[in-house]
Amino acid sequence: MTATSFFLSCLLFKGALALTGSFWHITDLHWDPTYEVTDQPELVCASSGKRPALSAGRFGDYVCDSPWHLINSSVYAMKSILPDPDFIIWTGDDTPHVPNEDLGEEAVINIISNLTSAITEIFPHTKVYSALGNHDFHPKSQLPAGPNTIYNRTAELWNHWLELESKQTFKKGGYYTEKLLNRNGYRMLVLNTNLYYDQNQVTQNMDDPADQFNWADQILTEAAAIKEKVYIIGHVPPGFFEKKRSKPWFAPKYNRRYLDLIEKHHSVILGQFFGHHHTDSFRMFYNKDRLPISTMFLSPGVTPWETTLPGVVNGANNPGIRVFEYDTDTLLVKDVVTYYLNLTHANAARGRWEKEYRLTESFRVPDASPASMHQTLERLANEHCYLQKYYEFNSVSYDLTDCGSDCRVDHVCAAREVDFDRYEDCLVKEGAASVFSGRLLFLPIAVSLLASW
Ligand SMILES: [Zn+2]
Ligand SMILES: [Zn+2]
Repeated sequence: MTATSFFLSCLLFKGALALTGSFWHITDLHWDPTYEVTDQPELVCASSGKRPALSAGRFGDYVCDSPWHLINSSVYAMKSILPDPDFIIWTGDDTPHVPNEDLGEEAVINIISNLTSAITEIFPHTKVYSALGNHDFHPKSQLPAGPNTIYNRTAELWNHWLELESKQTFKKGGYYTEKLLNRNGYRMLVLNTNLYYDQNQVTQNMDDPADQFNWADQILTEAAAIKEKVYIIGHVPPGFFEKKRSKPWFAPKYNRRYLDLIEKHHSVILGQFFGHHHTDSFRMFYNKDRLPISTMFLSPGVTPWETTLPGVVNGANNPGIRVFEYDTDTLLVKDVVTYYLNLTHANAARGRWEKEYRLTESFRVPDASPASMHQTLERLANEHCYLQKYYEFNSVSYDLTDCGSDCRVDHVCAAREVDFDRYEDCLVKEGAASVFSGRLLFLPIAVSLLASW
C-alpha cells in the first residue's frame, strides 16, 4: 500500500477525522479592589476580614481574594499557554468575600464589567460562555427567579458573547443555550444553579425557579431527538463539599431534580463543568446499574482565599486555571491539564505559571471519559499514593499534608455520591471499610508475630 492510499483508507475509517480541540475553563476570580500591600497585615485586603495577611505580595495572599495583578497575570498566562482556544468557559464569582454593605449593586456590576473587559481585550476573537456565580449578585447568593437589573446589565456587558435568544433567557432567569461554536449537532447549556443554592432565600419555596429545570429538560429532549451532543456549565454544583463532611450546597429537592435531569439525559451530555469550590475535584454520576454515565469537573479557582467556612482546615489554594482537551467530533473529554501559580514563590520572585499535572499521566487513565474518571476514583479510593496525589492537587498543591482515613472518606464519598442519602450511606460504608481494612492489615502481622514466637 502506498502512503497516499494508506492515508485515504484512514480517511474512510470512521473517527479518523476526529481532531483534538482545546478550551480554557476559568472560575472564581473574586477580584478584591481593596488589596494593597501595606505594613499593617490586617489592612491588606477587605476580604481577609481582619485576618492578618502575613505573606502579602503583589500576586496576593492566602487569606485575601485576588489583587488585580493576579487577575491580569492569570488571563495573560492563558494567552501565553494556549493563545487560540476553541472557546473559553467562565463559571462566575467575580466579587470579593466581603459583607453586602461593602459592595452594593453598582460595585458588583463594575467588577463584572472590569473582568469582562480584561478577558475580552486579551481574547478579542474567542467565544466565551459565561455563567453567573452566587457572588455576582447583590445581595450575594440572592439571585432571583425573574428579571432584575443585574441580569439585564450583565446581559449587556456580555452582549458580544451572547446571541439574541440567549440574551432573552438570560435576562429572564440568568441562563441560556446556544449551538456550541455555531456548529450543528453540538450545544452548550449555561445554567444558573445559584437558584438552587440553599443560601438563596428568594427561591426556596419554589418548585422550578425561573422554569429552568423544565426548560433544560426540553432542550435536552430536543437534543436527543436531533442527535446533538451537549456540554453543561454552571457555578454552584450539586452534591457535597469534599473539604467539609455532610456539607451540600443545593436545597435537597433541587439536588434530586438535578440528578433526575442528568440521569434522564446522560446520553447526550458529554461533560459538566462547574466551579464554586475553589478546589480541584470531580463528581461521578451513575445509572441504576451503577455504571458511570457522566462526570462533573470542578475546576480550581483563581482566588487563593482561605475559606472561613467553620470546620474547614487549611482551606486555601494556589491560583489555578485549566485546559480541557476534547474530541471535536464526539465531544468526549480526552484530557485535563491544570496550570497553577505557586503564590509564595510568585511573591518572592518573578511570577511563573506552570503545568501542575495532566490527568491521564497522573492517574494512568486513557482519557477523561466517565469510565476513566470512575477508574480514577476507584484508584484513589483504594491506593494511598493516588489519594495523596489527588489530595495535593485538590488544593492546587497548597496543602501537602497527609490525607488520612477521615480525609479519604470525605473525598471519596463526595466524588462518588451526588445523592444526599447515598452520600450518607457511603460515609458509613467507607468509614467502616477503613476500620475493617485496618484490622485486616493488622491481622496477618499479629499472626506472623505469633508464629515467630
Ligand atoms: Zn467562589
Ligand atoms: Zn460561589
